[in-house]
Amino acid sequence: MRKPKNARYMKHLNRRTVVNMIREESLSRADLARKTGLTRAAITNIIDDLIDSGIIVEAGTQESSNGRKPMSLKLNNSKLVCIGVSIRYGVCFVGISDIEGKVIAQRDIDFSNLADADEGIALIAASLSALMEDHISDERVLGIGISSPGPVDIYTGRILNPPNLPLWRNVPIVSSLKNSFDQTIILEKDSVSSALTSKNYGCGKDYKNFFYIEVVSDGVGSVIIMNHEVYRGNNGFAGEFGHLSIELDGRPCICGNRGCLERYASFNAILDIVREDYPQLQTWQDIIDNAQNDQRLSELVRTEARYLGIGIVSVMNLLDLDAVVIGGDVVTKSRMLLDEISQYVNSTMLTRNSKQIPIYFASQDHYYSFLSSASLVSERFFSGGLSDLL
Ligand SMILES: [Zn+2]
Repeated sequence: MRKPKNARYMKHLNRRTVVNMIREESLSRADLARKTGLTRAAITNIIDDLIDSGIIVEAGTQESSNGRKPMSLKLNNSKLVCIGVSIRYGVCFVGISDIEGKVIAQRDIDFSNLADADEGIALIAASLSALMEDHISDERVLGIGISSPGPVDIYTGRILNPPNLPLWRNVPIVSSLKNSFDQTIILEKDSVSSALTSKNYGCGKDYKNFFYIEVVSDGVGSVIIMNHEVYRGNNGFAGEFGHLSIELDGRPCICGNRGCLERYASFNAILDIVREDYPQLQTWQDIIDNAQNDQRLSELVRTEARYLGIGIVSVMNLLDLDAVVIGGDVVTKSRMLLDEISQYVNSTMLTRNSKQIPIYFASQDHYYSFLSSASLVSERFFSGGLSDLL
């Protein structure tokens, strides 16, 4: 005889399967029974439950050849909302979106003159309360997603010691906000929230397994998406792409090893190569803008492509993923960089004769917005992690 615990788990799994199927396309109860293999009675129970809890709605009748018109079902998008808080350097983006990432309301909070993290948290709480009061009436708030430069402890909800954010050291932001909000609150580092945004709304949407890379001023991070989920490793430290060593006796790295990729491919490292001769170059976009007419700068773009490419080839040879998405500072207008990386990877990878790896730049719109953080909530919802709801 089945234990009650297993019955509860199966119910949870079936509800999650049904909601994800309806997310893809409007379906009738009969369609769902056919696609899931569950009985009509079981589907009716699940659907009644999901309608009662406001997660799905009936969306009108479908055309049918035999005269009967089944009722199709869809997600109750506009009534299921997610809140996002993106802590960035000098600014914090907060807002409300529906569950598919449509913006309902947003605002920016100036963090350039904060006295301490407590003041920042008080400003976040006040802004969220005001936004919710103005824009939420009968909608259901699924949760609050927060992203911050890492490292963060996602299990205790604490921002640890991000470089360049000295006020945000060892800050228990989740428990502090719990004093004001009773919703589920999720904390992630910004690269993970960006990777999940690509997965849910961007160019990672079509891939079950992909590699997300983030190149910023002083580092190179990455996130492995495997079977539609973030692969974190045993202790949550997987994806340290920047510390893949590419030089046996290379430059020393803060991690204790030598020749780490980020000592060569971070934006500052690549700029160091030409900084003396080109003091006017400040951003990656400056390099790209001038590279068309300057052989040394176009060579610099090829060097960056080579460094990233060497790392990507190693990861692809090791993990056999389906695609690569690159985000961070290097994204701006760098078509040349993208082509160079793609060319290098697809002519060097072990499986080059049997498959080509598509390589994309992530949209930066989400990073500079609350949306990447709000997407943490929808990600949790669709993967069944908000278990009181699904
Ligand atoms: Zn290192």
